[in-house]
Amino acid sequence: MAATILDGNKIAAEIRAEAAAEVKAMAAAGIRPGLAVILAGNNPASEIYVRGKVKSSQELGIHSEQHTPSADVTTEELLELVTDLNRRDEIDGILVQLPLPTPVDSKKVLLSVDPAKDVDGFHPMNVGFLSTQRPGLVPCTPAGIMEMLRRSGIKIAGQEAVVVGRSDIVGKPMAMLLLNANATVTVCHSKTHDLPGVCRRADILVAAIGRAGMITREFVRPGATVIDVGMNRVSDPSEFAALFAGNAKREQTFRAKGSVLVGDVHPEVAEVAGAITPVPGGVGPLTIAMLMANTVKAAKMRRSHRVVELSRT
Ligand code: NAP
Repeated sequence: MAATILDGNKIAAEIRAEAAAEVKAMAAAGIRPGLAVILAGNNPASEIYVRGKVKSSQELGIHSEQHTPSADVTTEELLELVTDLNRRDEIDGILVQLPLPTPVDSKKVLLSVDPAKDVDGFHPMNVGFLSTQRPGLVPCTPAGIMEMLRRSGIKIAGQEAVVVGRSDIVGKPMAMLLLNANATVTVCHSKTHDLPGVCRRADILVAAIGRAGMITREFVRPGATVIDVGMNRVSDPSEFAALFAGNAKREQTFRAKGSVLVGDVHPEVAEVAGAITPVPGGVGPLTIAMLMANTVKAAKMRRSHRVVELSRT
């Protein structure tokens, strides 16, 4: 039986609508959440991502601003910019779009972001809050995946979850969130032995690898939930054919654009999985929706006493 498709666009729309309602309620108390995005240098992919984030903030009524230092910006100049944003009360969220230009010390810049404004959830203090189950800001992509699982009624507690990938941005926080939700979690990486065998144990399999179509049907236990985080652009015709031969819609896109966006999960997995996220339209939309939710959360955490005070006056 074909897998249930987990519709990321639909769930992202729900999350955005909830965030918009909170923004409206805060506006009644005289508060407008604010997001500052730092986009340094000229990375075309980053420019597209940032455009999407700014547009989404505007749609929700969140104040947003972009800071665009040139490619020759120094670590010290970025630290100064972050310090200024840390100080400004009307800014609740600071997002440093990665990658930063090469000579910049990215870790130092990320570490300088006030943890209370760290809407990406990358600061070690937020990482610590997550691993000790204290309230904090959680990285957007894995937080969005948890929303998707919960809102789709997929059981997590007591289930076997396998996460392929151990990045600080996706794999590790994903594993921690699943563990906090009482799944039994295994984290795999490039040195894991018998990766297909380990993945086949999963009730919930999360692929965050960055390799087009690597997870084939032999990695998946029939009926498992498969979450595809990968976003890979495929432009090689033979690679395209190995993934999508006979898929008229994809062939049309490939002919028109010269490339297609492909996840880490091979399309054939939809024939064995119980539920699966598509690419595009799965995890991607949730990431931006959770950035909005995190900005509202940061504003509430920093200014909640004032929301109460203002609503009393
Ligand atoms: P990353 O930092 O490059 O990490 C990739 C992970 O995959 C590493 O832990 C690596 O293992 C593991 N890996 C690589 N090749 C492997 C193999 N052959 N077998 C087993 N494990 C392997 O990537 P990331 O930032 O986590 O992103 C992963 C993917 O998700 C990318 O396609 C990215 O574009 C996408 N992504 C999507 C969103 C979204 O919103 N949809 C957000 C973020 C990322 P080692 O640690 O051993 O090297």
